[in-house]
Amino acid sequence: MPSISLSAPLSGWLCPLDEVPDPVFAGGMLGEGVAIDPLGEVLHAPAAGEVIGFHEAGHAVTLRLREGVELLLHFGLDTVRLGGAGFTPLVYIGAHVDEGQPLLRVALDEVVGKARSLVTPLLVTEPAGYAIEWIAPFGTIEVGEPLARLVRDEATSSDQPLDTGRAPEARLQRKVRIPLAHGLHARPCARLAEIVRAAAAVKVHVAVGGREASLASPTAMLRLAVRHGDTVALLASGPDAEPVLDQLVQMIESGMGEGAPFPAESAVRAPITSVSGAEFSVPAAGAALPGVAASPGIAVGPVWRPVQTEPVIDEISAGPEVETTRLRDALIAVRTALCSPAGAHAEEEAILGAHLALLDDPELTGAAEALIADGVSAGEAWRRVLHAEAAGLRATGDARFAERAADFIDLDLRVQWCLAGDEPPVMVPPAGAILIADDLLPSQVAALSPGGVAGIATARGGPTSHVAIIAASRGLPALVALGSAVLEIADGTMVVLDTVTGTLEVDPPAERLSAARAAASMRETRRAAALAAAGRDGATADGKRIEVFANLGKLDDVAPALAQGAEGCGLLRTEFLFLDRATAPDEDEQMACYAAIAQALEGRPLIVRLLDIGGDKPAPYLPIAAEENPALGLRGIRVGLARPEVLSTQLRAILRATPSGDIRIMAPMIARIEELRAVREVLLAEARALGVAVPQLGVMVETPAAAVMADRLAAECDFLSVGTNDLTQYTLAMDRGNPAVAGGLDGLDPAVLRLIAQTCTGAERFGKWVGVCGGLASDPLAAGLLVGLGVGELSAAPGQVAEVKASLAAVTDAQCKALARKALDAASATEVRALATEMLREVGL
Ligand code: PEP
Ligand code: MG
Repeated sequence: MPSISLSAPLSGWLCPLDEVPDPVFAGGMLGEGVAIDPLGEVLHAPAAGEVIGFHEAGHAVTLRLREGVELLLHFGLDTVRLGGAGFTPLVYIGAHVDEGQPLLRVALDEVVGKARSLVTPLLVTEPAGYAIEWIAPFGTIEVGEPLARLVRDEATSSDQPLDTGRAPEARLQRKVRIPLAHGLHARPCARLAEIVRAAAAVKVHVAVGGREASLASPTAMLRLAVRHGDTVALLASGPDAEPVLDQLVQMIESGMGEGAPFPAESAVRAPITSVSGAEFSVPAAGAALPGVAASPGIAVGPVWRPVQTEPVIDEISAGPEVETTRLRDALIAVRTALCSPAGAHAEEEAILGAHLALLDDPELTGAAEALIADGVSAGEAWRRVLHAEAAGLRATGDARFAERAADFIDLDLRVQWCLAGDEPPVMVPPAGAILIADDLLPSQVAALSPGGVAGIATARGGPTSHVAIIAASRGLPALVALGSAVLEIADGTMVVLDTVTGTLEVDPPAERLSAARAAASMRETRRAAALAAAGRDGATADGKRIEVFANLGKLDDVAPALAQGAEGCGLLRTEFLFLDRATAPDEDEQMACYAAIAQALEGRPLIVRLLDIGGDKPAPYLPIAAEENPALGLRGIRVGLARPEVLSTQLRAILRATPSGDIRIMAPMIARIEELRAVREVLLAEARALGVAVPQLGVMVETPAAAVMADRLAAECDFLSVGTNDLTQYTLAMDRGNPAVAGGLDGLDPAVLRLIAQTCTGAERFGKWVGVCGGLASDPLAAGLLVGLGVGELSAAPGQVAEVKASLAAVTDAQCKALARKALDAASATEVRALATEMLREVGL
């Protein structure tokens, strides 16, 4: 006889459901169950299954186990009112979880005083024909202890078909907007279900966003995730349906004791989701909005906000066979379009290649087809699967992974347009305009006509997104993470987008507009001159040799970097080589990849950084538990040391690639000397086993600890390379992925510069060189200053190499040293910028 076991999701005190001080749970309105008064802070999965619901307040999780059995775990009573405070979801909707896997972390200290009770019901909301036997004695219980056994009850299962989610035809319909502050969560669902169940002959369904659920089933309702402000349709059939509908509408409109006013409609339609939070007023003339530079440059022009339209998704399934064929046909059509992009740049082609790989991913298509088999339309199925993937990436909390969410949204839209038999409207900007949007998709930027917009400014987004890469490849200046205020600037307002100051200036005075125009055209002239001289060696005007390398993320980056005059690769971000895939690259594949890049560099140095991945940026193939404070958690070299097989596989692959070029190794996020020693030990052992020479081993200086201990590290490594992106975020305690603070991050802050100076002094004691491979090395304004601090190698973004070389060639070593002295004495990053600008102006740049 088939059976399913449930284990305790929490440690605490187990009690019967009727002791829960809430009639909705105690009366079994949501299903059979038990409750636990928790002692532990982490809620675990009682059995393996799929997460099919996670309330946005984080307090309630719904799991579907095999054969359609569904569970609801509801942490505490009335905890929905906390609006998520104290709750940290550890999984996302669509995730497949194992028994015992952590689902939710609750800060008990924070929640205990605010919630009515912490007692946590565990309910079998859909038994799917299984009989439930609760086997644990009431009293203390430990997480993971056996709790219940579900045994297939053949008699019940045969004559009780599952609710298909679709009501019979000939239905009355009423639309109602949900005024409940927390949407239709468990308790109101149960109360509405009670009314429907009392009117036995009436069937009522709720429809929203193309999905439908029976109102008699609170779990099916929860899966719809109806939120405050959503408009739903109530569809009723059967005799006396009308009074039941009236009663339901009245009850919902009353707010059921949880009513809250609706927010004012936003005047701007956001393409994906709008930035949540405070309301913003229209930025005043002369205001300068701080953002994050994503593609360098300065641009002046009128604001243009394109109207974003979305294809209409067919809500009703025409049957699994028809819908499966529709999806497959659409995928073939999109694949064909992606394979033959018209006029794409090399960078865009690589991004389209990544989209193509996603399109061929059997996990995505398999999940969509499974939904179609359950009666969902092709469009709705594809959207749910791709949006779940995007949500998963955003939930990682790491900016660079969250940026990849746009790729999934983009691919969803490509397929939706195809299913709708239509084309996305072409965005035709007025020439010279500054495009402003909440966020953009890679395809939208790629589709911009050449010679159209002069720059891009977005409320969200990140500096290493595919959007940023495409903008940079087209030479389009771009600022991201400007916040919602940017969306309030009226169309046609003149703005100056300046990535040197990192600001978008709104309606500046006429003198500023003409100065900015002059700067933009001078910049163009300078860029052309720098590119023409890109082949020279990196050096100061008086001949001090400074190697100028490029940061690479893939083989395709090599050619554009060499065209810019790169003299090697100072940082190969190996985590990006394998980002868009679900399985771990094996040793041979890694080796082939490193060897190909080394060969393409034709003998120039290649510094391979060991995987920089962690709890905050999990690669799909390296599952690592979510963390509360990932920037301070298991990341960088700590992962390699915690997972020795990952480190030794990568080291073997690099060692085997060494005959292909001048390959060196660099370890990320080193904070303590023991970490360096541990890496060296593995490196020596693997080199000995393979019988190859040991390559140079360097340390990335990304933590203040590494900077102040640079002398001790230098004594035991071959070189140091400063990762200014992380060093700045850790020094200033500002999360580089958090738009609320990222605008304040500036690597030219004197605090960061003093740490770089300390690194150089420490390394010099032991005769080791120091490079910079963080974002500061790409800033022509910073190049001379870094040299003055004692840096001997700069590794810039490929598109910036020529300008960095040109900037160095214009100044003498003595000028650099004088600037460094003044900068170390400055009080702020603004002062440092002014000093550096002055020096470059003096030499005519
Ligand atoms: C840095 O932190 O500056 C760096 C180069 O590493 P990443 O940006 O990849 O974290
Ligand atoms: Mg870093």
